[in-house]
Amino acid sequence: MPGFELFGAEERKEVTDVLQTGIMMRYGFDGPRKGIWKAIELEKAICDRFGCSQAQLVSSGTAALTTAMAALGIGYGDEIILPSFTFVASFEAVLSVGAIPVFVDVDDTLTLNPEAVRKAITGKTKCVMPVHMCGSMADMDALQQICKENKLLLLEDACQSIGGTYKGKHLGTIGDAGTFSFDFVKTITCAEGGVILTNRQDVYINSDGYSDHGHDHKGSDRGADLHPFIGYNFRISELHAAVGLAQVRKLDQFLSIQRKNHHQLRDILNQVPEISFRRIPDPAGDSCTFLSWFLPTEEITQAFVHEMKAQNIMAGNFYWYDNNWHYIRKWDHLKNSIVLNALHPELKSAVMAEANKSFPSSDRVMGRCISTAIGLLWTEEQIIEKGNKIIGIIKKILAQKSVSA
Ligand SMILES: *Cc1c(COP(=O)(O)O)cnc(C)c1O
Repeated sequence: MPGFELFGAEERKEVTDVLQTGIMMRYGFDGPRKGIWKAIELEKAICDRFGCSQAQLVSSGTAALTTAMAALGIGYGDEIILPSFTFVASFEAVLSVGAIPVFVDVDDTLTLNPEAVRKAITGKTKCVMPVHMCGSMADMDALQQICKENKLLLLEDACQSIGGTYKGKHLGTIGDAGTFSFDFVKTITCAEGGVILTNRQDVYINSDGYSDHGHDHKGSDRGADLHPFIGYNFRISELHAAVGLAQVRKLDQFLSIQRKNHHQLRDILNQVPEISFRRIPDPAGDSCTFLSWFLPTEEITQAFVHEMKAQNIMAGNFYWYDNNWHYIRKWDHLKNSIVLNALHPELKSAVMAEANKSFPSSDRVMGRCISTAIGLLWTEEQIIEKGNKIIGIIKKILAQKSVSA
């Protein structure tokens, strides 16, 4: 799964280029930097590799989401539709721009259920934000259609699905804007970093300014820049961009290893008829960072997780249903709206109402789902061993259930 597994000489070389001039900031210092512009180079490489017209690097995936929302003009009074299964950063970003997160069910794609999205649209809805969870994609045709019919913005959180595609287009480049995270455990890493991808010039210009105190970046004298609007500092450093530059050049290698390991593990699990797999709207576009699969019932899944933990082999397998970061069921801080800086009372009550809704259809999916993170360094023998241990435990549990039934 993560690019850090194959960190090496290429990353060290890029970072050394920056350390030799000592200019670690992405803007200015034109003379002393001696022609070294890692952030600009990485933005160009991202546009080329993923096929979008503009890319704005920032300090994290969370900052990328916040910046994209601001750049799209999403704020006070606006509702953003997002899935009940995502990483906490998705709703953190919504709150940071003062908008209301409206959670809706996921289906067996582990992403937004288009019908649930339709039902959640109100007069306040401004944006639909699919999250391409665990390496694979949402049903983008259906979501694009809904956005078109209802004149809504489409913002793709593709932080976990770098290199995945849908009908030939890269995830993150299909909507009005998209984001990647380059944090330490993502498909490619900058240590910390993120990017906003867009084909809209206005969104790019807003992102460029917003992530650097509203600077217009028009002249070569930073002190003389104008500030057409208020921004923040979400800049990436040259050191981080340098790491990312080496990593993006290795992406094809990471993806081909992931696909090979994923398919091998899938073939092993496929031997058990009780195991089913995540539905992938465009199977050719799966980035294969995870293999996500289902057991027949929540009870069997709980027993499986219990046994995997007892045998100390759960590492790398995720039962999101019980995890504090990825599924709404355990987001107590959000349900209770516990914040350090007070929210507007209207926003606070809207957030609490949303976060405390129940999601029985998501529960039916997530309660039975396990995602296995695909390693880049696995050997074929290790995959066979991992796969066989998993199916051994499942067969044992299924046999116990049939005896007790
Ligand atoms: C990792 C992640 C983010 C946030 O990225 P950071 O770089 O860690 O801030 C946002 N959304 C999803 C779905 C993620 O997995």
